[in-house]
Amino acid sequence: MPRYEFRCRACGDTFEVNRPMSEASAPAACPSGHGDTVKLLSTVAVTGRGGGAAGPVGAPAGGGCCGGGCGC
Ligand SMILES: [Zn+2]
Repeated sequence: MPRYEFRCRACGDTFEVNRPMSEASAPAACPSGHGDTVKLLSTVAVTGRGGGAAGPVGAPAGGGCCGGGCGC
């Protein structure tokens, strides 16, 4: 069940509500009983970074033997 975060404009409290998606936009009263609340954008935590392979870095590109000034 998705979790939605609300903020109360009366007391400034933020609270979370678990509710089905079909009721996502329904109003929610804050824990203190205020009804003047706004739904915050829920942030989806994306875990895992896209980091590439941790292998060794290959030889630097650059022409091999004749790439430089070796004269061969
Ligand atoms: Zn409140």
